[in-house]
Amino acid sequence: MADPADFPFEFACRRSGNCCAIPGGVVRVDDADVRAIAAYLGMSAEAVRSRFVHRDGDRLLDGLGSRCVFLGEGERAGEAHCTVYPVRPQKCRDWPFWPEALERPELLAAMQRRCPGITERA
Ligand code: SF4
Repeated sequence: MADPADFPFEFACRRSGNCCAIPGGVVRVDDADVRAIAAYLGMSAEAVRSRFVHRDGDRLLDGLGSRCVFLGEGERAGEAHCTVYPVRPQKCRDWPFWPEALERPELLAAMQRRCPGITERA
């Protein structure tokens, strides 16, 4: 993971789930991510790729409403949760300290608008 000190913000997760609802398949996955999810779900890696990974092979599909295919609903508002949390992809573990956010101001701005846990550095 990139060094959080290199980023122009502070972060404390507020459990909004908004980082899991960015349309466009931004959640990149590699073979290790797919294998871990497959083991957790008791499926083959091929089956996970077939059901949950875009055909280009390196990003999760969007689910309903352009949310991550693994974002599950809670019983009450604000209780959305990751259904593969113990084995969530490295990209999710690194949020919001994505190196590309330092290179793409428009991406950083979009992340800051979406995530209430990202705040100005004091
Ligand atoms: S895999 Fe889990 S943590 Fe990652 S975007 Fe999907 S729901 Fe969120």
